[in-house]
This record gives sequence, structure tokens and C-alpha cells, in this order.
Amino acid sequence: MKQIILTGDRPTGRLHVGHYVGSLKERVRLQNSGKYDEIYIMIADAQALTDNADNPEKVRQNIMQVALDYLACGIDPEKSCIFIQSAIPELTELTFYYMNLVTVSRVQRNPTVKSEIKQRNFEASIPVGFFCYPISQAADITAFHATAVPAGEDQMPMLEQAREIVRKFNDIYGETLTEPDIILPENQACFRLPGTDGKAKMSKSLGNCIYLSDEPDVIKSKIMSMYTDPTHIRKEDPGHTKGNPVFTYLEAFCNPEHFKEFMPDYKNLDELKAHYERGGLGDVTVKKFLNNVMQKELEIIRERRKMWEQRLPDVYDILYQGSMKAKTVAANTLEEVKHSMKIDYFENKNLLSKENER
Ligand code: ATP
Ligand code: MG
Repeated sequence: MKQIILTGDRPTGRLHVGHYVGSLKERVRLQNSGKYDEIYIMIADAQALTDNADNPEKVRQNIMQVALDYLACGIDPEKSCIFIQSAIPELTELTFYYMNLVTVSRVQRNPTVKSEIKQRNFEASIPVGFFCYPISQAADITAFHATAVPAGEDQMPMLEQAREIVRKFNDIYGETLTEPDIILPENQACFRLPGTDGKAKMSKSLGNCIYLSDEPDVIKSKIMSMYTDPTHIRKEDPGHTKGNPVFTYLEAFCNPEHFKEFMPDYKNLDELKAHYERGGLGDVTVKKFLNNVMQKELEIIRERRKMWEQRLPDVYDILYQGSMKAKTVAANTLEEVKHSMKIDYFENKNLLSKENER
């Protein structure tokens, strides 16, 4: 079986370090592993409109920003097909057929949808399109016969829902669609990177992000004002490293080389944590170290982004070519789907002939 990746992001803002460790870094690794036959990376503008219907300008403006972030992180358009969701109307048609395979109560039980409804104050009135986005995500994934979806932990319920749709479709209409698996980051700290404010998830919608394109001084001031352990008041106090975002970020970003370069008094993160937990290590020292580590990791990305910013017509072309390619693939799957459902009336005249009336 072909190994195919489909993954993507909503163009609701520039991408942040949560995206980077939760999904982007993994995508680049998988892209360069040579293990995948095809890789599709979708800029999910149609999905972004489900909760930004009144602000299409924001979504439109962020399409280029997300594309630049991809290229900056090392997504290679020669190896990965980057495309724009709304350029592929076939995805909407697939969604429409899949909607019949899912109940309202099933979507209501989806924990990610539940928390996102709450976060957006949609409890009283949920846009139907937003409510259905897990179904449209199943369409995006299956349109490319994706076997793997590299994503953060918040996407697990979405993948489960997609797998259910695939099973149900294949059960009713015959083996047609492919069941996808989620690929979570290898490092647990990257499953769901917390916000700089200590909230459970760094998210564009919560405004608690360090962006990949932030300038060095902005990164520094965000790190220096990060939430830490509120019980660690004086340097001598014993501190908590669990649930302390500064340490979660260190888990996500730092390696022993960073200790050699910036913190030679400690061999590794375990030693640093032990000191913080027994007391005597100040937040400022730890934050300064985190700043050094993150500046080092993000510098290359920012520089590469600046280079691509000078080549916007090329980026436009990458998106255009990618969208055309993705459209061909999705149209093919849609044909297969309609064939299995026996609704491809004008491809197969027998479907509407007299004999079929019985
Ligand atoms: P929005 O607030 O508009 O939903 P978002 O910040 O949640 O934006 P998405 O575009 O919804 O970002 O997510 C894109 C991908 O990035 C998904 O695979 C998601 O799991 C991953 N991701 C987003 N935020 C984080 C995070 N804080 N930690 C790990 N992975 C994340
Ligand atoms: Mg999200």
C-alpha cells in the first residue's frame, strides 16, 4: 500500500512554536525520511471560515503567512504538495456525502469540538459549518487516501471520527476509502505545548503564542514574562517543574548540546529540574537559558522565512501548482466514491436504465 500523508493548518494566524513542535517539525522529518510516496499539506481556509465567517480578510491574509511558515520550517515543495483547501471543491462534495454517515450526537461527544465550542462562546448558537468541521476533515484526509496524519494530540478525536466514517462508508458501499493513523510527535512534551500564560494549549485563538516569525527581542520578552510556578516565590523556595510551561518548553526544545553551550554547570535537563525542585534556582536563570535555546532553534527558521518573503511570486506559484495537483487527486477519489455509491449516473448509463428499476 502506498504511504501517503495529509496534514494541514488553519490560516487564522501565523504559525507558532506549538505548531512547530506538535506537527511541523515532524512533517519535515517524515518528508525527508523517504518513507512516504506522497505528502499533501493543506492550508485549511474553508475550515478557518467556519468560525471566522465575518472575517474572511483575516483568513485570506494568513494564507501567505502560513505558506511562508511552512517553507521557513523546511517543507520542500519538490517533496510535499502544498495546497489551498477552498481550491478543491471536491472536498466539499465528499463532506456532503459523509455527513449522512455521522449523527449529531456523535459530533457533540467529540471532546475537541466540545472544548472549541466553549472556547469560542458558541454554546448558545453554533454555526452549522463549524459543527461539521470534523466531517470535512475526514473528507480532506480520505480524498488523498492518506495513511498517516502527523498532528498534535488535540487531533486524536478527529482522526477517530475520520476512521469511523471510513469504516461506515466501506461497510455500506464497499471497500473504497483508506483508514488513516495519527502520527504524534516522538517527544511527549510536544503533544500539546502550553501557552506562555500557562493555559493548556498554545493557540492562535488564545493569544498566548510565540510565533515562528517573532523577532529576537519579542521572543525574549515573551519568555521573560512567561507564567511559571506560582508557589516558587523566592529563589530558595522549592519549585514545581510539572505543569510549569518553562520546563515543558525546555523538554520540547533543549538537548544536551544546549547545556554545553549555554548552561555548562548542568549536564542535562534532569539535573536542572532537580535543582529547581529542591530550591535555590531562580526563574530568571531558567528563562534566560530557555531564551538562548529557543533563539538558537528559531533563528534559522526566521532567516529562511525572510528569504522566502523576497520571493512571493514563487510562493504564489507553489500554491497554484500544488492546488492543481491536489485537485486532480481529490477528483479521482470523488469519482471512486460516487462509483461505489452508484450515483455516477452519467458515467454508467445502466444505473438509470429500465433493468435497474427492479
Ligand atoms: P486555532 O486557534 O485557529 O484553532 P491552532 O493554534 O489551534 O489555531 P490549528 O491550525 O488548529 O492551530 O492546528 C494545526 C496543527 O497544529 C494541528 O495538527 C494541531 O494539533 C497542531 N497544534 C496546534 N497547537 C498546538 C500546540 N499548542 N501543541 C502541539 N500541537 C499543536
Ligand atoms: Mg485549532
